[in-house]
Amino acid sequence: LTILGIESSCDETAAAVLRLEDGRATLLADVIHTQLEEHAPYQGVVPEIAARAHAEIADRTVAAAMKQAGLSYAGLDGVAATSGPGLIGGVLVGMMTGKAIAQAAGKPFIAVNHLEGHALSPRLGNDCPFPYLLLLVSGGHCQFLEVRGLGDYRRLGTTIDDAVGEAFDKTAKVLGLGFPGGPAVERLAREGDPKAFSFPRPLMNRPGLDMSFAGLKTAVSRAAAEAPLTDTRLANLCASFQAAVCDVLAGRARRALEGFDPGEGEEIRFVVAGGVASNQAVRTALEAEAAAFGGRLVAPPLRHCTDNAAMIALVGAERLAAGGIEGIGDLGAGARPRWPLDEASATRDPAYA
Ligand code: ATP
Ligand code: MG
Ligand code: FE
Repeated sequence: LTILGIESSCDETAAAVLRLEDGRATLLADVIHTQLEEHAPYQGVVPEIAARAHAEIADRTVAAAMKQAGLSYAGLDGVAATSGPGLIGGVLVGMMTGKAIAQAAGKPFIAVNHLEGHALSPRLGNDCPFPYLLLLVSGGHCQFLEVRGLGDYRRLGTTIDDAVGEAFDKTAKVLGLGFPGGPAVERLAREGDPKAFSFPRPLMNRPGLDMSFAGLKTAVSRAAAEAPLTDTRLANLCASFQAAVCDVLAGRARRALEGFDPGEGEEIRFVVAGGVASNQAVRTALEAEAAAFGGRLVAPPLRHCTDNAAMIALVGAERLAAGGIEGIGDLGAGARPRWPLDEASATRDPAYA
């Protein structure tokens, strides 16, 4: 199966071509354009600017991917595009592009949940069979999920306020480090003392798997205002913030691993995915937790932690291979600004729908 995948839900315009053969994925093309310059002056992603930028370069991005793969549309078995959740303008651009190609080439269209892309992204490495425990940490989400199989996701806990990536971005903004904040905070944290400030570890001793990060950001901004921001102080603030994030995630991971039963004879696989999974300190902290349970931490390569189209193509390929998609596929599907991965959880928790 050869699938073209398109991603445009935030500030990455991306296209990838993926081949799935005997359950093994091979990337034939993987193009990612990040809209850095477009949003830099605003220190955050501006939805209208993102939508226009996607519209301007979507066609070129897809063409570049097809060229890299050495294929024409006739050589595809389907076209997959992110259909939510995300910024609606960008999602519409990617979906319309994908639908037009699918219809013109007479191939099925597959509407993909962006979060399912992140959830399955570790499988791009062909070393992560189901089931696994997943920590999805991105710009808009922070949740533990049990991934039992394709389409079988059970949400175990979530942030009750900010996502982790959002906490990194807001902290960076307070410290004047630009956008996106994650990589900048991580870089400075390397030079700082993680014990210089003792920031709160919210909900740490609360039962369950819910998390909270809004208070942490407030604590950083209060500490930042107390004295002039020298280089050392800045590095110490970053290191101490990052240490608090790692502690909270590791503490919750321990609890999640305690409750995770992969089944008789199955290895314990703990996956971290999403933009924050590219943070080395976070990886190291989670690795230790997995090891303590005799398990293995699986994390995608950095390129596939943040938004990319390879993970979208993979979901499309796995769904098509599973046989649930016939004829023209999801050509009638609409864009969904909100789309919980675990639909059932939406009925339990109206605030999440
Ligand atoms: P979602 O997937 O929830 O819709 P998104 O697509 O915007 O949100 P991603 O692209 O998965 O999110 O991740 C982007 C986030 O990851 C940003 O908040 C960014 O700050 C964060 N991030 C990226 N690199 C790092 C890093 N090295 N350390 C910490 N955070 C990082
Ligand atoms: Mg991005
Ligand atoms: Fe994302």
